[in-house]
Amino acid sequence: MDRDLDLFRKLVDVFLDTQEHEPVLASQTPKELINKIDLALSRTGISDTALEETLQQILLNTPRSGGRFFFNQLYGKNHSKAVLGDLLSVILNTGMHTYKVNGIQVVIEEEIIQEICRIVDYGSTASGIFVPGGSMANLMGLLMARDTADTDVSRKGITQNMIAYTSENSHYSMDKNIRFAGLGYEHLRKIETDEHGRMLPLKLKEAIEQDLAQGHVPFFVKATAGTTVLGCFDPLDDIADICKEYNLWLHVDGSFGGSCIFSKDHQHLVSGINRAHSFGINAHKMLGTPLTCSMIFVKDKDQLIKSFGNDASYLFQTEEGPNPGKHSMQCARKNDALKFWTLWKSIGTNGLGEMVDREFVLAEHARNYVKNHSDYRLYHDHTSVTVCFNYKDYDPVKLSQLLYEQGEIMVGHASSKGNTFIRLVTVNSQNAISDIDEFFSRLEAFAEKHQDLLK
Ligand SMILES: *Cc1c(COP(=O)(O)O)cnc(C)c1O
Repeated sequence: MDRDLDLFRKLVDVFLDTQEHEPVLASQTPKELINKIDLALSRTGISDTALEETLQQILLNTPRSGGRFFFNQLYGKNHSKAVLGDLLSVILNTGMHTYKVNGIQVVIEEEIIQEICRIVDYGSTASGIFVPGGSMANLMGLLMARDTADTDVSRKGITQNMIAYTSENSHYSMDKNIRFAGLGYEHLRKIETDEHGRMLPLKLKEAIEQDLAQGHVPFFVKATAGTTVLGCFDPLDDIADICKEYNLWLHVDGSFGGSCIFSKDHQHLVSGINRAHSFGINAHKMLGTPLTCSMIFVKDKDQLIKSFGNDASYLFQTEEGPNPGKHSMQCARKNDALKFWTLWKSIGTNGLGEMVDREFVLAEHARNYVKNHSDYRLYHDHTSVTVCFNYKDYDPVKLSQLLYEQGEIMVGHASSKGNTFIRLVTVNSQNAISDIDEFFSRLEAFAEKHQDLLK
């Protein structure tokens, strides 16, 4: 083990140094990579020296999500304290199902869950669990809603025309989950949004009324705190009022923006989240925690047990302590709690809030830059860590693709309401304001230089 840990340190040093000085890796095709690096697996192993060389190559040929010009996804550079916790969890190799074999690790998970429940004032029966991603949290919310609306489903399957609602800007996991849940596309309604991309509560109400009039059974609404493309926040209180009126399960998808609960300045964006029957948060997006680090919370712990519980005498051999395997979708789970706990313990709730605030400051700076330069056009001017824009009349798809191919900047493009634009996401709280300025100056210089290719 010692030698491999020394090697780990050596490999990481080279990687981090490269990431610092060459923050973006130019694109390569899978074929180019296979020709360049010996990835083939074979019957016989290789020497340690050859392995070291190959691993070094692999590291240096992986896209650098921690680079300061990585704005392509909803995550960025990891916080070192969270990395420390994650590395320790690999050494500990716990499975997170029972207290007997995981001990303090499941107690740590429970502490995170309970502290978040306290922060949002979620009530005395609230609980939650770490899950393998925001998509999975959304699925679990949907399944609990289904099982609550019709308690026969677990025995007989679906027998009614059950209808789910979400906005047209909802994450694509909703389209998958409605199939996984046995309901099918035709039982999902996509509600229209306002000019900022937020679900229109009146349209939701209309859709519910229409389904009721046809004898359907509305049962579930998924609202979003921080939509994937525009980063906008659905009006949770208004939507919660409607769910209460019609007795529908409300799940808030806070995969992206749910972390605002930690910020004094931005928690108003998620006001009403504690009225949801369930909500999810990803710490791997705005909170610099290594992928994946996702949680689902439920107002009533019994719902988790009803939908996901099962006894197993070969597994649960002590009543003592938390036994999360009794209300999780998986059996063994990766320990995603220790990394987040290590970060949180180190910087405190205030520190988490400051990370969130910092990302809004970076976005505001970018938004102002776009607004103050006539060569740019801004789409969706609202409080969010997403800045959607176009530069001159360059095709955003081509521009973003070329920036990636040439290893200049990693930034994506997206579309909404018929417009296509560059989508800059400022979720790396370790970025400096000067990185944002440099993002624009790089982009401008690049566009001028490659005008021919961009035509
Ligand atoms: C990222 C995202 C998800 C999916 O989260 P994963 O952890 O990638 O599964 C779901 N909903 C929203 C709004 C997101 O932004």
